Amino acid sequence: MDLKDSIRVIPDFPQVGISFKDITTLLKDGDKYRQAIDELKALVSHLQIDVIAGPEARGFVVGAPLAYALGVGFVPIRKSGKLPYETIEVGYDLEYGKDKLAVHTDAIKPGQKVLIADDLLATGGTIATSVSLVEQLGGKVVGAAFLIELVELAGRNKLSDIEVISLMTYE
Ligand code: 5GP
Repeated sequence: MDLKDSIRVIPDFPQVGISFKDITTLLKDGDKYRQAIDELKALVSHLQIDVIAGPEARGFVVGAPLAYALGVGFVPIRKSGKLPYETIEVGYDLEYGKDKLAVHTDAIKPGQKVLIADDLLATGGTIATSVSLVEQLGGKVVGAAFLIELVELAGRNKLSDIEVISLMTYE
């Protein structure tokens, strides 16, 4: 069975006109979850990665197991007000709404090679913001990896100088 068959598509969630790709149906299946992380690992194997950064919450579900599989560290990128130590923050527009993301100021050392991971690339706002946070700390973003890319929303155009890797695509 194709990995894509494990994604449940929910029309009009969280608002009318959005076709939401529900990854929980993939995550609850141990074989599929492992297959997805293993395939993503193979797709990023040519990159030199010191650390993976992922935005909450679904970026943790992809980024942390990928970091474990690669034997590198994981840096959580969180919504404003959630991280306990000193942070930097960047505001951004979502596919539906606005928000702010933050990272600890000591999370990434200058010059570290960073892969950013999330479940899904839509407009690219979340990842462009994550890139901005990593770069403000002096990290070098070597790629961005996703389970799913919504091709029509052209998020990769916001990430033009970064290699974008996705396991599954939807038009
Ligand atoms: P973007 O910032 O690229 O427009 O939106 C991507 C972010 O919104 C990701 O962090 C992702 O978790 C969330 N997101 C937007 N649409 C969907 C969707 O259809 N399915 C899932 N699982 N997440 C989505």
